Amino acid sequence: MAKITIVGAGNVGATTTRVCAEKQLGEIVLIDIIEGVPQGKALDLMESAPLQYYDINIKGTNDYKDTEGSDVVVLTAGLARKPGMSREDLRDKNADIIKMVTENVIAGSPNCIMIVVSNPVDTMTFVAKKYSNLPKERIMGMAGLLDSTRFRHFISAELDVSHEDVDAMVLGLHGDDMVPLPRYATVSGISITELISADKIDAMVERTKKGGGEIVALLKTGSAYYAPGASVGVMVESIVRDSKRVVSCPAWLEGEYGLKDIFMGVPCVLGKNGIERILELKLTDEEQAHMNKSAEGVKKSIAELKV
Ligand code: NAD
Repeated sequence: MAKITIVGAGNVGATTTRVCAEKQLGEIVLIDIIEGVPQGKALDLMESAPLQYYDINIKGTNDYKDTEGSDVVVLTAGLARKPGMSREDLRDKNADIIKMVTENVIAGSPNCIMIVVSNPVDTMTFVAKKYSNLPKERIMGMAGLLDSTRFRHFISAELDVSHEDVDAMVLGLHGDDMVPLPRYATVSGISITELISADKIDAMVERTKKGGGEIVALLKTGSAYYAPGASVGVMVESIVRDSKRVVSCPAWLEGEYGLKDIFMGVPCVLGKNGIERILELKLTDEEQAHMNKSAEGVKKSIAELKV
């Protein structure tokens, strides 16, 4: 059975734990810097096991010894946005936290596959790669799948059709300059450009780009966690079960899409070896220009890093 460590027992970490438990993906270790919180949430989740029907163990801890030998590590530690903040406003504080937790967790799990969630995620994945020294296949961010999922929900609501039949792909950085690709968004194989007017598609694209901010403005005390937790769960599942799902996620680029030396959202095949392939789509000039703009944002963020 796989061993999964989730670093950060806040909203995203606890929700991810629950999703992974319900999918019975493996033994889960939930670790946080605050004493009592991971233990309390782990116990609460174990006490719901008889009702939710999962038969795996969840251990809450503050001790990295308990994380040793993990197959998959998810980093959710750090600050979340409050209203009026951009993801970039979290950069310096979260970079210090990601450096610290990466060094702690990698010592006991040198061969893990790591999924970084903390924001700004494209930059934090860069920090985690630097301090884990993991090969590019074994480290990725979580973002594009979430952004695509938000886009899918808006399409489904607009057309009043099942979520199950709606697919979409969002590439680029996880921020206002992300790159939703409407011509690749489909309903049972039919492009949404055949079903929805250009104005309405533009409005949905804009809402997708600001999707995280819309929730922050409503919650006022933090950021989204149900859809983020569900997205991480799908990625962990694809790795643990070797199911080769195709999801957009920040991957280390070495020339794909004409970009290199950054993590940014591209379509990836996820399996037991981590990122097993990056799929390269033929983009229009306009889409490529948008990808390049996205990449400039990531490069600027990395250049300003202090760790
Ligand atoms: P939260 O405040 O609920 O939880 C963060 C947790 O991290 C807290 O429990 C805190 O104690 C813990 N933590 C802080 N420093 C730590 C350390 N050094 N070691 C271990 N744990 C530490 O926040 P959240 O809502 O769970 O969000 C977590 C992060 O995920 C934020 O940075 C947020 O912006 C990001 N996020 C990313 C996406 C995405 O799409 N990539 C989506 C949602 C949230």
